[in-house]
Amino acid sequence: MATESPLYKVAEILDLDKKTVKKLETPEYIREFDIPVKMDNGKTKTFHGYRVQHNSARGPYKGGIRYHHEVNLQEVSNLAFWMAFKCAVVGIPFGGGKGGVVVNPKELSEQELENLTRGYVQKIHKYIGPEKDVPAPDVYTNSQTMAWVYDEYSKLVGKDSPAVVTGKPLHLGGSKGRDIATAQGGMFVLEEALKKLKMKIKGTRVIVQGFGNAGATFAHLAYHKGFKVIGVSDSKTALVDISGKGFDYHTLEEIKNTSKVVDICKCGKTTCGCKDHKHMTNEKLLEQETDILVLAALSDQVNSKNVKNIKAKLILELANGPVSLEADKILFEKNIPVVPDILANAGGVTVSYFEWYQNMHKEKWSKSEVITKLKKIMTRSFDSVYKNSKKYKVDLRTGAYIVATERIVKAME
Ligand code: NAD
Repeated sequence: MATESPLYKVAEILDLDKKTVKKLETPEYIREFDIPVKMDNGKTKTFHGYRVQHNSARGPYKGGIRYHHEVNLQEVSNLAFWMAFKCAVVGIPFGGGKGGVVVNPKELSEQELENLTRGYVQKIHKYIGPEKDVPAPDVYTNSQTMAWVYDEYSKLVGKDSPAVVTGKPLHLGGSKGRDIATAQGGMFVLEEALKKLKMKIKGTRVIVQGFGNAGATFAHLAYHKGFKVIGVSDSKTALVDISGKGFDYHTLEEIKNTSKVVDICKCGKTTCGCKDHKHMTNEKLLEQETDILVLAALSDQVNSKNVKNIKAKLILELANGPVSLEADKILFEKNIPVVPDILANAGGVTVSYFEWYQNMHKEKWSKSEVITKLKKIMTRSFDSVYKNSKKYKVDLRTGAYIVATERIVKAME
């Protein structure tokens, strides 16, 4: 782990002994295996898979399964560590885990993906379960993948076990509200942060980097709340408002429906179809004048190179690790608060916990029940993080790690 990891800073603040720190940063189990998969041409191809179970002091391991050709043990382990702290910061009774398979899922047919997923479950079914380890979707896995996990696990253990996995389709025990949970959770903590900064919502300018599930949903919520959404981007391009009024509902809808920011103004090399917007690069978008910058795409987007050009008054990390640790320090010195990923995007795992809970107790909650419970958890969590950041005179990220570390250590004891 990098020496500047927030855990080391927290260990100093809380005066943790070396043995405890070692336990906090070391996975409890690393499962690594080959998965033979029957391909459509009748041949068998072998894929490499992982499941890292980081810490279970607070409850079953929890974390997604990622299908990506660059998946590796280090990445899966880091993500499992993150999950343990994310679950702890919002106080849900889960530990941290993560899984992955080295595969380019775009090269596999639907049948091959199903075979791969069932093969993955066959390798780990002894180590997962509703009270042991509860996987979920991650990069390039989705509710269909989770339906296969549910089915294969239930067959292998001879018992219907919907709570073995979250992120399932609604008709198979998925939770209402999961689709908007990450963005909604981020919105709840942002509202709390604005109260502390004595900033109003109405007319406050927001730029959102990344227009996928988290970013696009957040932009919509922001519009409906009364924020002025003045910039959005995806992997191809960024679009900014030049009318001074912010994007209208129609534009946001259209971006969401086409899923591509670039298509909105039908821009060619020299001309653009919209008079109220202009295109720019993703890099430039981050450096625009705005009140709030929401990072909902990739890691390391605000880093030591561009941090000096950031003009936002507050940053919300909906993605995992979008602000580098070097940039974090500089933003703290510049008095620009960063609402950290382990808190800002924890709405997703919180509603995953609601799904698990509903399955375990054979309950079905309405969407409004889910959102009400989510609000309670997110506002309470922001409050603890904020209080700790003030108590120890540290940034919100360190405050969040203090809350999480104290909870995990207490459970380990
Ligand atoms: P997604 O795949 O639906 O969307 C990602 C978006 O980012 C796409 O619009 C893509 O075009 C855009 N993008 C890619 N590269 C970009 C770049 N260089 N500049 C600007 N935009 C770029 O993913 P998502 O589910 O919305 O997740 C986004 C981030 O949030 C990821 O870091 C993910 O790990 C994190 N996250 C998501 C959830 C969730 O529930 N969706 C939960 C926790 C964390």
